[in-house]
Amino acid sequence: MLFRSTGSTEKEVSFKDAILHCLPRDGGLYVPASVLDMRQYVLHMGSETSYPELVATVAPTLLQGDLNPLSAARIAESAFDFEPELKQLDDNFSVLTLFNGPTGVFKDYGIAFLAAVMEELLKNDQQAMILSAVRQDTGVSIAHAFYKRRGMISVILYPSGPVRGLDPKYYITNGGNIIPIQIRGTFDDCQRLIVEAINDRPFAERYGITCANAINPGRLLPQIFYYFYAFIKLKKTLSGELIFSVPAGNFGNLIAGLYAWKMGMPVNGFIAAMNANNAFGDYIKGKNFKAGRLIQTNSPALDVSVPSNYERLASFYAEAPAVMRNMVYPDSIDDNTTIAAMEKAWKTYNILLDPHSAVAFAAAQRLSQTAGFNGHVVVLATGHPAKQADLVMQATGQLVNIPEKFSNLWKKTDPMATIVPQLDALEGAIASCC
Ligand SMILES: *Cc1c(COP(=O)(O)O)cnc(C)c1O
Repeated sequence: MLFRSTGSTEKEVSFKDAILHCLPRDGGLYVPASVLDMRQYVLHMGSETSYPELVATVAPTLLQGDLNPLSAARIAESAFDFEPELKQLDDNFSVLTLFNGPTGVFKDYGIAFLAAVMEELLKNDQQAMILSAVRQDTGVSIAHAFYKRRGMISVILYPSGPVRGLDPKYYITNGGNIIPIQIRGTFDDCQRLIVEAINDRPFAERYGITCANAINPGRLLPQIFYYFYAFIKLKKTLSGELIFSVPAGNFGNLIAGLYAWKMGMPVNGFIAAMNANNAFGDYIKGKNFKAGRLIQTNSPALDVSVPSNYERLASFYAEAPAVMRNMVYPDSIDDNTTIAAMEKAWKTYNILLDPHSAVAFAAAQRLSQTAGFNGHVVVLATGHPAKQADLVMQATGQLVNIPEKFSNLWKKTDPMATIVPQLDALEGAIASCC
């Protein structure tokens, strides 16, 4: 599968080149250059297929020319010691649980696959340095996925504020391969520094710089697998329409669903479930995009004013605007409705949802109540309820069991260095330890 830039002045590149360089030089983002027909797998795979089996079967076709079946099986095995779970609630609703990974968010899936596939694709003597700008637990997910991977050093940039959950045994100074650096600045400063480091060609080439942010197509593509997985688990029981309800912040998850559809997964639509930060809904309905003022809500991962996948989504809409408007239904759920949805999910189905998943659940409920709706909605549960246990308690009265693996996530840790938000400071910090 080849990738092209949304800036489209660059020539098409292989998957390997796209993940090892991560940003096209023309300022765009990598998107698949053509869409593969994956129906032979989605339609015929049995419902008993395990997640690693599915990944090992689908990935070689998806990444033709870069992966063979043996290497795909190794990647699936080494990336996934956790699996999604499809829970059918009744005739109309299912929940696809995506929070079983090490940090309890769906982002673990893309990150784990990216780290494993990079290790497989790097030749024995090749090195890569993976830069990431992170907030909260994404740093832990990245450290966990890249720890001790051959030929790789992972540099994690944190904005000002406490750094939590990193185990010092991961640090390069303690024999690991992780370099956590705090930037005296914002998350946007961290992202800007990564782009600057990639564009400093001599520096980028010396260290083999790439990134593990969601802009890397190697994180986006594996999110297709769990849509296929939900479909093969459900397909025997489906009669009417199939809709996925996706909590949408930067729209990565939603776009992965759209790719799954383009690759032949029979699906009738997607709900782009936003919280009060819903300016992107107007764009989906066909208006020009105007970023709104950022509003803080109880589903903070959806508090995004300009989605980082804007170009990727725009390139879908440019191809077939009318088709897209029939395929993606935007909805906006406020904080009170989110809490009410958490309560309803508990009372009706005995499941605990985190607020992000509850935004998608509330939007799914709303769609199901529209006249003439006859279908099944799969709600993507993207965050573990234990991550926002107070809110779950408030909404449902239930005390959530906090899994042992999360106990470190809240512990403060020291970064290896704290620097000003300037490229020479970052390059100096990297040079001093590698
Ligand atoms: C990141 C995140 C989202 C948003 O996903 P996008 O792909 O950015 O739209 C939703 N829920 C949780 C729990 C998240 O961490």
